Amino acid sequence: MARKKKRKLSIKKISIVIFVIITISIITVNFDSIRNVYLSKISGYNKESISVFIENDIYKDIKNHEYSKTLETIINTEYYNKNYLDEYLDIVFVENENFLQNTSLLLDKGYSSNDINNIYDKLTENSINVLINNDYFKDITNIISINYFKEDKLERYINYYNEEDDLETILTYVNIGLDNGYYTNVIEIEDQNNLLVLVNKYNKLQNDFVPKDLETISSKYGNGSLRKEARIAFEEMCAAAKDDGITIYGGSGYRSYSHQLRLYNNYVAIDGKIEADTYSARAGHSEHQTGLAMDILNGRWSFIDDNDKEYTWLVNNSYKYGFILRYLEGKEEITGYMYEPWHYRFVGVDVAKEIIQLGITYDEYVAKK
Ligand SMILES: [Zn+2]
Repeated sequence: MARKKKRKLSIKKISIVIFVIITISIITVNFDSIRNVYLSKISGYNKESISVFIENDIYKDIKNHEYSKTLETIINTEYYNKNYLDEYLDIVFVENENFLQNTSLLLDKGYSSNDINNIYDKLTENSINVLINNDYFKDITNIISINYFKEDKLERYINYYNEEDDLETILTYVNIGLDNGYYTNVIEIEDQNNLLVLVNKYNKLQNDFVPKDLETISSKYGNGSLRKEARIAFEEMCAAAKDDGITIYGGSGYRSYSHQLRLYNNYVAIDGKIEADTYSARAGHSEHQTGLAMDILNGRWSFIDDNDKEYTWLVNNSYKYGFILRYLEGKEEITGYMYEPWHYRFVGVDVAKEIIQLGITYDEYVAKK
């Protein structure tokens, strides 16, 4: 009897043991999937990704970080590199077929996750290729945040980059065209009758361009023609100068393409091309062809000199009538011309005031727009 009881007890024990073993097995087998469902609920990643994170032993690194679609996507591709885990977590995913490949190339170049977010936020695929095909450019995030950054010039900014100049200077100079030699990469101006047209050694008027509203200035204020608005402002300026006891005259206003061509060729014959280029514009590149520039004479009918009282008056007052001194001393490299204390350009009162306040050339002003 006792033996039987004992055996019965053994069977019960064995059953319990078997039950426990089976239960543990079931739990163990399903533990990963149970855990993964739980983890995916708290992290946002799908179950398969969680398994991969656990396999790669990186779950602990990401569990306190917000969900990253970039990480979830890249980890299943050939582009995944565990060294960039922190970067993947911070890079905003972009729906673009080349995103993962480009991101991995940019990371290899040395770009940070912040750079890459800015690059994808502000640049096109073309520019991304420029970055991939050039050396690492450490100021990319700073340069694209400057409001006159011109994306089509990205490669030129990179090539012109140097440690001495600040980024704003680099952008301004490249926007002007100074990274290329004078009269190279010449752009044909489209809106030639615009009162704010920029004509210089990089921007050219058409040979047959004649401003639409040229008017001859009153003979009591000298000689020459200007566009209507500039003519009126010039005469007002002469009258105001007269009220202050200062006499100024127009010396040379509008000049046609053929007139400029004769002048320039004449100077080249005398001084040679290199010298002539420092003070005379090639035809099509003269501001005088716009009908918005005037070479001003003093009361003795000579070109204004910076010792003249007329010069001082003009420097202090011309902007009130919309005129600026165009070729400044110390800015020869930017304007491409020697200092000309007599050459004034009409840009309108508002722009003239702004330029005077900024203390910059018109070339720089346009490049910063
Ligand atoms: Zn001039």
